[in-house]
Amino acid sequence: MNKETWHQRAQEFKVDGRALIGGKRCHALTGAVFDSISPIDGRKLGEVARCDAQDVDAAVATARAAFDDRRWASLPPAKRKSVLLEFADLVRNHAEELALLETLDMGKPIKYSLAVDVPATARCLQWYGEAIDKIYGEVAPTGDDALALISHEPVGVVGAIVPWNYPMIMASWKIAPALALGNSVILKPSEKASLTALRLAELALEAGVPESVFNVVPGDGSVAGAALALHHDVDCLAFTGSTRTGKLIVQYGGQSNLKRVWTELGGKSPNIVCADCPDIDAAVRAATTSVYFNQGESCNAPSRLFVETSIKDAFIEKALAMMPAWQPGDPLDPDTIMGAIVDRVQCESVMAYIESGKREGARLLGGGRRAREDSGGYYVEPTLFGDVAPDMKIAREEIFGPVLSVSSFTVIERAIQEANDSPYGLQAAVWTADLRKAHRVARALRAGTVHVNQYDGDDITVPFGGYKQSGNGRDKSLHAFDKYAELKTTWINIT
Ligand code: NAD
Repeated sequence: MNKETWHQRAQEFKVDGRALIGGKRCHALTGAVFDSISPIDGRKLGEVARCDAQDVDAAVATARAAFDDRRWASLPPAKRKSVLLEFADLVRNHAEELALLETLDMGKPIKYSLAVDVPATARCLQWYGEAIDKIYGEVAPTGDDALALISHEPVGVVGAIVPWNYPMIMASWKIAPALALGNSVILKPSEKASLTALRLAELALEAGVPESVFNVVPGDGSVAGAALALHHDVDCLAFTGSTRTGKLIVQYGGQSNLKRVWTELGGKSPNIVCADCPDIDAAVRAATTSVYFNQGESCNAPSRLFVETSIKDAFIEKALAMMPAWQPGDPLDPDTIMGAIVDRVQCESVMAYIESGKREGARLLGGGRRAREDSGGYYVEPTLFGDVAPDMKIAREEIFGPVLSVSSFTVIERAIQEANDSPYGLQAAVWTADLRKAHRVARALRAGTVHVNQYDGDDITVPFGGYKQSGNGRDKSLHAFDKYAELKTTWINIT
């Protein structure tokens, strides 16, 4: 489809921003709404229900009733599998609609909404659906006089709170394993991008997920999100978002019913390129692509680049040569690879970080300005800073925008030390042809994922999550099931 057709579809699009509670689309009980504004051009797309604690209560009550009557939990896993496979197919069948919604709502290029976000969401639903009828319990190796069975049971009512940077993918990482296990789910999408979550819940119903098993309550984080995290009848809260909010979420668990709380938080990932890197061009491509992709709004973006001094100038020259390709463009143009920043607030925050980098003495080597301002939307150029010192704000804080900071090193131990000198520990990378060095550095880096000579390794089969203040949970892979299951032991006297 060409740019004009996407724009025409965008104009014709009617947004339904009502919540989905108990199998029905509904307004917030107070009737309150907030405007959904497209960052592409500042246009109002429609209104979204501004749910509050009353709506969350209603969603929790209906989700609890659905869990207690076992309408979903008691289905044989093979049946839940077939529903999730149908759900995944429906996502694929609605690829263009979902991709357009995602792009209009949060500004990412339509190219990637279609090629990345929709297929990844469908694959996630499919993968957990396919897995669920292959999970066995255990029989413990006890003595002859007893039988001890170890089984997994759904934890009950799961609250999921997700961010705006990959709205559908982040939602699917939570809802797919939680639903596969038989839980009831209440999803609170970000107020900055709620539309695809609501459409996903409709498709789930159409696929056969029973009413009340999957509910969506859009609204402000400090109101609807806090009400969900503080709720006494929510058994588990799965959160993805900033470290700042994650700290609150953990407190809410303690202030309420000690629900299980899983956090997947921010990052400031280091990327170490040694002079013996086997393919400098590949390293440059990965260093820039991974930071500028999704407008830099990726938790795992390797935004701190450490390059060995002897290759630093050549590396930077090659990186600067990549930057014209990343100039922001119209997100509805299928050729665009860098779109709009999610909203004005985030755009201003990114620009403030760029100003602080300049003020603190980092060298602005490329970009650094807003772009496409006449569009009415929010765009920032791909930005590259050199001579970044470890104590600068741009080296320490998550910017969540297209800003790459480069510093150099001469001794690998020093690079490891600086890489680890961060409150975050989501991902990290090292580029070297020396196998022993690669393993040594990979072991020394304190991060949930370490890449060696690549940065794009990504698959639903592999856990995703961080060390330190990047959170305690792991999304993706079979490990994610552990978050949404209780482990039950049943002792049976057989004497
Ligand atoms: P955020 O913390 O502002 O918001 C995340 C979600 O929490 C939103 O739905 C928001 O409404 C809600 N929220 C806000 N305040 C709340 C409160 N007091 N109580 C309950 N809920 C509340 O984060 P964001 O700006 O939406 O997302 C960006 C952040 O997410 C970045 O830090 C990024 O690194 C992180 N992220 C992490 C991962 C991961 O897997 N580790 C993935 C994607 C994004």
